[in-house]
Amino acid sequence: MFLGPPGAGKGTQAERLRDDLGLVHISTGDLLREELAAGTKLGIEAKGFMDAGELVPDAVVIGMIRERLQSGAAAGGVLFDGFPRTDAQARELDSLLADLSLPLDAVLLLEVSRDELVRRLGGRWLCRKCGRSYHEVFSPYAGTPCPKGGQCELYQRDDDRAEAVAKRLDVYERQTAPLVGYYEGHGILRRVDGEGTLDEVYERLEAAIQA
Ligand code: AMP
Repeated sequence: MFLGPPGAGKGTQAERLRDDLGLVHISTGDLLREELAAGTKLGIEAKGFMDAGELVPDAVVIGMIRERLQSGAAAGGVLFDGFPRTDAQARELDSLLADLSLPLDAVLLLEVSRDELVRRLGGRWLCRKCGRSYHEVFSPYAGTPCPKGGQCELYQRDDDRAEAVAKRLDVYERQTAPLVGYYEGHGILRRVDGEGTLDEVYERLEAAIQA
């Protein structure tokens, strides 16, 4: 499981880990954006919370996770990204995993300073087709081919606007950061410095997984 504030690099690093470890990547943020793009009732209800930088209600998110875990998608191993984000979600996940006899092996906490998070989220652009993340300053799109064909189609997330960024960081501190203590208490938390290049952070993550 990846834990850490918005902008810490969870999504980017999770894609690489997923490929290297052969895991299923479950990002609740991606699942909600897919629901929204498909115009479902759930997606439309979630949009208001997401645009404002607030959390979508626990029952909605837990329902999506339960469906995926019970469908057997988790059998070969899962990498959670952006879930859980509240105490209620963490407790519900524990009970779901216990029912399915699946252990939670490790929680990787990506640590990044608030100033750096604001800088990263402010210049972030995503490809509508392949989901890759670019940054105006740190990793601009160089026109390389999109894995889904043609060129990447870049857009900026509504919740990457300045007011929503500040709100998301506050929401993280208030509602999600307490999970650090929760998983520390379970003896499975591993802290990883999330600043530096993508390769540097990835090497630290690999070391933390093997530790
Ligand atoms: P992310 O892509 O992980 O930054 O998530 C984008 C937005 O989706 C968040 O700001 C929340 O509004 C919503 N979201 C994603 N995951 C969760 C979750 N586990 N619980 C509640 N809301 C979530």
